[in-house]
Amino acid sequence: MTLRLTHTAKTYPDGTKALLPTELSVDKGEIVSLLGPSGCGKTTLLRIIAGLETPDTGSDIWFDDDNVTALPVERRQVGMVFQSYALFPNMSVRANIGYGLKMQKLPKSEIDTRVTEVLDMCQLQPFAGRAITALSGGQRQRVALARAIAPRPRLLLLDEPLSALDASLRETLRDELAILLREFDITAIFVTHDQDEAMAIADRVAVMSHGRVVQSGTPEDLYRNPTSSFVAGFVGNAMSLRGRQDGTKLYLKGGTLSLPADGMGQTVFVRAEDVRIVESGPLRGKVETVTFFGTHYRIGISGITPDMLTSIHLGQDAPKVGDMINVSIMPETLMLLPEEAANA
Ligand code: ADP
Ligand code: MG
Repeated sequence: MTLRLTHTAKTYPDGTKALLPTELSVDKGEIVSLLGPSGCGKTTLLRIIAGLETPDTGSDIWFDDDNVTALPVERRQVGMVFQSYALFPNMSVRANIGYGLKMQKLPKSEIDTRVTEVLDMCQLQPFAGRAITALSGGQRQRVALARAIAPRPRLLLLDEPLSALDASLRETLRDELAILLREFDITAIFVTHDQDEAMAIADRVAVMSHGRVVQSGTPEDLYRNPTSSFVAGFVGNAMSLRGRQDGTKLYLKGGTLSLPADGMGQTVFVRAEDVRIVESGPLRGKVETVTFFGTHYRIGISGITPDMLTSIHLGQDAPKVGDMINVSIMPETLMLLPEEAANA
């Protein structure tokens, strides 16, 4: 189904404006991630879509052609997965997954068929009879997903479902979840504060800051064409090159760079993969840190900008800590951006 929010906002009773008037559309079968730092309003937006939170007057929520703004949560047919899974610990995997169907008073044979179907999909057959307490974190996460999908919801909402897991498991499950969501062929919204997670799972990412969606696009689009310094920094950790500029040249502590366009009044950003260590170049700095990542080195360089400048360095060897090095940055890789979010 298609989801559409118009002018949707939320002011909590204490006056907190958690969500400013927001427009958001999600296409049928599309997986959209809401990405933003803690407190920016992601959960509030998700809960409004679910019907767990009443939005401010003037907000409208559409599921296809149905205006569901006044519809209570139990009639919206949304599936939800939370960070805390909220599974029944002493019930079996099968009973947990079938719980919602039982509540819907479906015939037992129908429940069995559906539960078996999602057990297969989520590769949980071997654990069907086990209690939740006898499962690993990753398996529990899959049960929560299976339970949410079993009633065949119109829309699936996931709120930081991987946050409770340790880093290595999170990465595996992230890719697994990306595949599963596509197999379900369902419209889904995935909330996270982790840019890698958003990029790996979503078709489209809506970046949020202070109660608003500041930019929405494909992961590539957000990474390559951020429209604000916030998005440049939050998606892919672009670094600001702070220095004096006259519109055509940028004068940094460690040298001078040409600007690709008139950058008056804007902040210049660069990504670590575009900071090149070279034999001779316009910038000069000192190596402070060298970290080996297998596929590349990460080099921390001082003396060029007030903050440390990071370079992603490919190659068989790297300079040593304390070395003075030359650095070049191609003008076309520089991003000129307004300080504040584009629509702030
Ligand atoms: P996120 O999920 O992005 O971390 P939330 O939607 O949970 O953000 O919160 C957005 C803002 O609304 C925060 O400032 C938070 O403190 C506030 N907030 C959340 N729930 C309530 C509530 N029930 N009453 C008042 N303020 C709230
Ligand atoms: Mg939240």
